[in-house]
Amino acid sequence: MIPFNKTCVIGKELQYIQDAIQSGQIAGDGKYSKKCQEWFSQNYQFKYNLLTTSCSTSLDMSALLLEISPGDEVIMPSYTFVSTANSFAVRGAKIKFVDIRPDTMNLDETKVEAAITAKTKAIIPVHYAGVSCEMDYIMDIAKNHNLHVVEDAAQAMMCKYKQRRLGSIGDIGCFSFHATKNYTSAGEGGLLVLSNELLFERAEVIREKGTNRSKFLHGLTDKYTWVDIGSSYLPSDISAAYLLAQLENAEKINSNRLNIWNRYNSELKPLKDSGKIELPFIPSYCEHNAHMYYIKFQNSDISKKFIKYSSERKIIAPFHYVPLHSSPAGLKHSTFVGEDKFTTFESSRLARLPIFYNMDKDDQSKVIDCLFEFIKNT
Ligand SMILES: *Cc1c(COP(=O)(O)O)cnc(C)c1O
Repeated sequence: MIPFNKTCVIGKELQYIQDAIQSGQIAGDGKYSKKCQEWFSQNYQFKYNLLTTSCSTSLDMSALLLEISPGDEVIMPSYTFVSTANSFAVRGAKIKFVDIRPDTMNLDETKVEAAITAKTKAIIPVHYAGVSCEMDYIMDIAKNHNLHVVEDAAQAMMCKYKQRRLGSIGDIGCFSFHATKNYTSAGEGGLLVLSNELLFERAEVIREKGTNRSKFLHGLTDKYTWVDIGSSYLPSDISAAYLLAQLENAEKINSNRLNIWNRYNSELKPLKDSGKIELPFIPSYCEHNAHMYYIKFQNSDISKKFIKYSSERKIIAPFHYVPLHSSPAGLKHSTFVGEDKFTTFESSRLARLPIFYNMDKDDQSKVIDCLFEFIKNT
């Protein structure tokens, strides 16, 4: 069987985990957590960053930091993972979905302004497949209407928009190190990136159960006490140890994935030229990370047939998100503003091809052959 995804293992993970265990300090904010955060400061110029237990909890923290309360509204695409909406819905916010662009599957920036009301607090762009949303346009709207921007950069490690790192353009950036992402911290993990010191100081407190423990440990206060709301959002140092091994090989992982992505893109071009399928679109000023390789068929019937056809040949090529506005919880917590011209249609005709670090060349040939064969027979 050719799986859709395989969790990345670089080789040094066990050594670091063993060292963390032997050091006797495996609680959060240990040696490896600090090393990971330093890595992001040095390599990414993410001055204010904190490891978290997941992208979902990074988004939860964002909603707390922005003091989202019942009745507030946030704007995002419906074509996203549940956590993007859930983290704000759980604070009582009303989710306002806007349509996506058919080319990148990202939120259509030109639809955002019409969804703004007096209650709007934030815009949440999701960088689908590690391809950036139109951040200049979105940041301008946010500035003009005095709104916050939280980037759901779950899939966007290593990605850039006009030379700028995704996750560092808005007020807050949220990354995922889940097992299915390009880099993982032992299966579950995340990162919170803050754009300024004020947000960072409060994030440190929220992440440490609402206490000033972090300041206390740094000798900046003589008492350790409850100072704000919060919870436990810091990962075990064992997770960080796993992650560090991957961060040290970030370029290697990225270029390996990009090679696989580029091979799909060049070998599938004849199918695109004949109008049978559509391939991903990457704007010239965006650097992506080969998180995903998706194709779109002419309609959902064909894509369903392909998903079945490939699985019968032991190749897993799944569908992606069911648009949230049509989900049971979505019906309760959200409204779709404007016309759903692309969200439902474009997502229904999409399938994702297997892609992961060190994917076998012959396996990739089998996936490509399977797709050609399918197109020939339909
Ligand atoms: C994976 C993902 C998340 C959730 O990440 P976790 O680390 O699993 O919580 C959120 N948003 C998007 C767009 C994702 O792809």
